[in-house]
Amino acid sequence: MFGIYVHIPFCEKKCIYCDFYSIERTEHIASFVDTLCNEITLRAKQSDSYPSATSVFFGGGTPSLLSPEQLERIITTIRNHYAIDQDAEWTMECNPGTISHESLSGYRNLGINRLSFGVQSFNESELAFLHRIHSPKQAEEAIALARSAGFNNVNLDVMFALPEQTMESWKHTLEKVIALAPEHISAYSLIFEEGTPLFTMLQRGTVHEANEENDAEMYEYAINRFAKAGYTQYEVSNFAQNGRECLHNCTYWCGDDYLAFGPSAHGLTDGTRYWNYRSLTRYTELLTNNELPAANSEKLSLDERMFERAFLELRAKGIRIHEFQTDFGINILQALGKELELWESEGLTMQSNGHFCITSLSRISFGSGDGTTLR
Ligand code: SF4
Repeated sequence: MFGIYVHIPFCEKKCIYCDFYSIERTEHIASFVDTLCNEITLRAKQSDSYPSATSVFFGGGTPSLLSPEQLERIITTIRNHYAIDQDAEWTMECNPGTISHESLSGYRNLGINRLSFGVQSFNESELAFLHRIHSPKQAEEAIALARSAGFNNVNLDVMFALPEQTMESWKHTLEKVIALAPEHISAYSLIFEEGTPLFTMLQRGTVHEANEENDAEMYEYAINRFAKAGYTQYEVSNFAQNGRECLHNCTYWCGDDYLAFGPSAHGLTDGTRYWNYRSLTRYTELLTNNELPAANSEKLSLDERMFERAFLELRAKGIRIHEFQTDFGINILQALGKELELWESEGLTMQSNGHFCITSLSRISFGSGDGTTLR
């Protein structure tokens, strides 16, 4: 698999918990599209050996702030310079507060075939606390608009372990989500990221983290409820109907390569990770001089690649035992030795279809942790 990630660094208003790079200066979107197309073109000139992409993912920020015309320019530039599989997955992240039937129809006509909505909660006061710009009703309407625009592959993101969130409120959110029948659900525990307003509130003692027991209880409830509703948990935080796993995220989790464009975006090609400047100003300056906006890059050592692969695959379907041995010369089962026996006897790990996996019990015991979507 080979992915392309495009970071759109604008939001109407910052949410208090978010540490993704985005700014509220939406008046810069038009000029940003020019700069982004320049980056896409420049990087293509550096190498003509990229494989055909199996997925393209527009993340952010809020990609749904782009007009269909702006999105078309970006897509055309990508298509002009990179091979894309005919049946590639094209995902666009959307904020329920920034869409209309016209914009979604426009995206669909351009070939976007998967939408990912950050709905987070169906509780009015939780959304207000998080500084989300939409209401629960707008989130419901967004899904209806997506369906009427022809989307049959939709993800909903939800969050749990919010300060003051009760089990009752979490159950309400889950029931609303399930009633909307999205093909995919991502459920994340709230993380207090350093540098965010939420983190400052925590330090000042104006909010408190949910206790670990509540966090684990909400997570366990969600796993069981989603299973009952027909969703398979294929990663620590991700649940999908049959055949609706997110291909783009699977690319990350298998350690496969991906290109990334836009400020703060991280890419991985031929064992080298690169990341762009986390500043629209610096990003624009460099590209105006026809220089790539990478702030730095690092060649991953064998140990780093091995550790990353093991960590990411364990979060998902498990470590592919045979492939791991082929790529790193290590039999993971032998390497774990006595630990393996102990974990298996405690029901924390298991082996299945050539994979070494963590069980539901260990997922619940150790919690959902933070998300692993790379930007
Ligand atoms: S969570 Fe999404 S909408 Fe909120 S600030 Fe972050 S990127 Fe923007």
